[in-house]
Amino acid sequence: LPEYAFIGRSNVGKSSLINMLTGRKALAKTSATPGKTQLINHFLINDNWHLVDLPGYGYAKVSKSTKNTFQKFITAYFEKREQMICAFVLVDSRHSPQKIDMEFMQWLGEHQVPFCIIFTKSDKLKSKELDLKIENYEAEMLKTWVEMPQYFVTSANTGMGQEEILSYIEEINKNLKLR
Ligand code: GDP
Repeated sequence: LPEYAFIGRSNVGKSSLINMLTGRKALAKTSATPGKTQLINHFLINDNWHLVDLPGYGYAKVSKSTKNTFQKFITAYFEKREQMICAFVLVDSRHSPQKIDMEFMQWLGEHQVPFCIIFTKSDKLKSKELDLKIENYEAEMLKTWVEMPQYFVTSANTGMGQEEILSYIEEINKNLKLR
């Protein structure tokens, strides 16, 4: 089955987003303690694709060896990725582009891994601020990329972006079947 990977810095809102996408509250436990998602979890969605929950990266308070272990996990996953269709890189809507995210997307690009960007926690910004943040992010991306990748603006609190992401994935799955 096709796999779609979800990844981002710890505390970016990944567990909340996964819960929102799957509509199952108990599926991925959210926690106020960053760095809690430590293993790669697969969730079967609609019996036709797997949501892959990758460990959060870049949490400052984990040790170097923990960081390296995470990195190895993630690298190994993407290097095998036989069924991996697209990686969703989560970034916090409120933050300006972070070096670690930029570097990670660079790495995905170099390894020809298709990816999208998901802006999380958009409910925390007023709509004008949100637009500015996205514009700013896009401008930063365009310094190194020819075009802005496909992106989704989301909120786990309001459900914003849920439909868009799910139909994006289903659309790809449909085309995969036709191939
Ligand atoms: P993870 O470490 O990336 O899995 O992040 P979590 O999903 O555990 O979320 C980290 C914190 O951000 C928690 O306190 C969540 O309640 C909060 N959070 C996550 N998503 C949203 C969102 O869309 N809106 C708001 N306001 N808070 C969020």
